Amino acid sequence: MEDYVTVVCPFCAQSFSVDIDRTAGADQVFIEDCETCCRPVQFHVAIDASGEMSCEVTGEV
Ligand SMILES: [Zn+2]
Repeated sequence: MEDYVTVVCPFCAQSFSVDIDRTAGADQVFIEDCETCCRPVQFHVAIDASGEMSCEVTGEV
């Protein structure tokens, strides 16, 4: 089952969506380039027991 989240880019403040593969685990960290500014945005996705998905994004450290 796939899903997606919409986040706000920490670099350029534009919102964009990325697909999340729920089967990849309940706790995922990955890098996806922003669609607008093409900078690498780190995603931290957590899926709780009820299937609720939350996502935090951070910029480059
Ligand atoms: Zn951006």
